[in-house]
Amino acid sequence: MKRIFRIFGFAFLAASLLPACSGKVPAPVSVNEAADTCAACGMTVRNNGFAAELLNRDGQVLKFDDAGCLLRYFGEHPELKKAFAFVQDRNTREWVPATEAFYVTSAEDPTPMGSGIHAYGKEASAAIFAKAHPASVRADWQSLSSGGRN
Ligand SMILES: [Zn+2]
Repeated sequence: MKRIFRIFGFAFLAASLLPACSGKVPAPVSVNEAADTCAACGMTVRNNGFAAELLNRDGQVLKFDDAGCLLRYFGEHPELKKAFAFVQDRNTREWVPATEAFYVTSAEDPTPMGSGIHAYGKEASAAIFAKAHPASVRADWQSLSSGGRN
């Protein structure tokens, strides 16, 4: 499990990502599987519960096929520090503000680009997944983006 955290072990600026409660939050934009490609890796973005997106204040929307791609891209683009990030709930495919989602990292249950990051809007859903995957690790946005807390 430590390997997954090592992937994101660089100092990243999630602390500066605005929490959803700090003002007007733009509405997330639905996945268009026919047109959307991941801003980080170029793969098709699917409406499969793994998608993520960044909305900046100019109305620009960046889509990602895996929360790991979002984290990587965000870390590489400090100009996006005031953008809003959303991740899809693994079960419901609803958009959840990235700072409010409950995460479980699991190498046992692959994600599109192998980050192993599963996001949930409800803590109970994350707990169910974690229980079913004994080697998984619970996480929040802060711990994912700053290298973990284990
Ligand atoms: Zn990607």
